[in-house]
Amino acid sequence: MSLRLFIGGMRGSRPVTGAAFEEFGGDTTALLLVGSQGERLVLDAGTGMSAVARQLAEAGPGEVTVLFSHYHLDHAVGLTMNPLFYQPGWSFRLLGPTFTDGGVREAVTHLVAPPYWPLPVERMSARIEFAEIAAAEIRVGRLGVRSCPVPHPGGCLAYRIDGTDSNASLVFATDLEWQKRTKADETVFLAMCRTPRPADVLIIDAHFARANAKAFAGWGHSSWEDDLDIARSAGVPRVLLGHHAPDADDKALRALEQQVKKHSPGAALARAGQWLTIGN
Ligand SMILES: [Zn+2]
Ligand SMILES: [Zn+2]
Repeated sequence: MSLRLFIGGMRGSRPVTGAAFEEFGGDTTALLLVGSQGERLVLDAGTGMSAVARQLAEAGPGEVTVLFSHYHLDHAVGLTMNPLFYQPGWSFRLLGPTFTDGGVREAVTHLVAPPYWPLPVERMSARIEFAEIAAAEIRVGRLGVRSCPVPHPGGCLAYRIDGTDSNASLVFATDLEWQKRTKADETVFLAMCRTPRPADVLIIDAHFARANAKAFAGWGHSSWEDDLDIARSAGVPRVLLGHHAPDADDKALRALEQQVKKHSPGAALARAGQWLTIGN
């Protein structure tokens, strides 16, 4: 039994549009994971949420969990791009971490409200529930969700999701700055990737290359070379690189992917609109 993953968008920091960005997509991070029992788990709500909402609508109304890594705008502004919030029959559980700057309820109710947005949470027709990441493992149907903090300004969580009725698993690690890690960060992250067995796929922040990562120290993002090293140490065979730099057009990303594949044939760059199968 496998998991299915839809890439709504994996552009980093800000959306981009135009013919030069069609292959990899210009929308910011939003993914949809569908479990073996039809569980629907949305990972982050960047502008790719529009495409995710279309996929959700195709399967019909029901329960959806939206899991946030953190609340930077490129991962949350797509909450205003989900028309399903304003349709009856839907039930959304918004699940996320609490940082010193606040948790999921504060982030969402501040953002989706005047003066930024005319129709606040109380005006939504869908059932909305807020939940904090409190336990070590959370269940969404037969999906098991674990998390660990990763270095990023203001805080961010990486998630591991396991199909508990299959061997399929993935780690979603957007927005992390590996060069800023402590020994403890490294230990806990690698342990999550490896335990109970190496995840099938690592989805990870590849905003930079090593050549420019130093110049942007403190911006909160990693290089693709670090990402491939992490995957190798964790024994994860397949890597999906995301959080593409906003200025990197299709031509640049195609060239980067060729370079990446020379180092690691199991790695690829995420393309908006693609469906991936994880496990068998
Ligand atoms: Zn981001
Ligand atoms: Zn961020």
